[in-house]
Amino acid sequence: MIKPDAVKAGNIGNILQMINAAGFRIVAMKYTHLTMDTAGKFYEVHKERPFYGELCEFMSSGPIVAAILEKENAVADFRTLIGATNPANAEEGTIRKKYATSIGENAVHGSDSDENAIIEGNFFFNGLERF
Ligand code: GDP
Repeated sequence: MIKPDAVKAGNIGNILQMINAAGFRIVAMKYTHLTMDTAGKFYEVHKERPFYGELCEFMSSGPIVAAILEKENAVADFRTLIGATNPANAEEGTIRKKYATSIGENAVHGSDSDENAIIEGNFFFNGLERF
């Protein structure tokens, strides 16, 4: 996902360009707006974390871009491309180093496992929306 902060800042194109340049193929893509309820479902694994409410408020604060990306070793390579959760700790040249402003408003989401990538892809896309 490209998160609401990066969409608001006009960075959809810049981020997609970095994703393309890193060799990911776009399988599905959608511009949409999560509600508190749908953001809460997407981030349900974090519901016991102290920042859960703040995270859901932020993720429903504006439109997002959701995508399914394909590549060998996609999960690990995408996490390398986006950088650390906190942009203060992100490597130079990563998406979060360039475009994130804080640990909460950190520009992009990436799945943390192949299993979660399937669950998260199914959250946004049906079979007719994948190419
Ligand atoms: P990620 O896999 O790098 O996105 O990081 P996590 O799975 O640990 O956290 C999920 C998301 O929750 C992050 O991308 C942030 O948007 C948010 N988040 C994580 N830690 C904090 C925090 O301490 N404060 C706030 N406000 N949000 C956080």
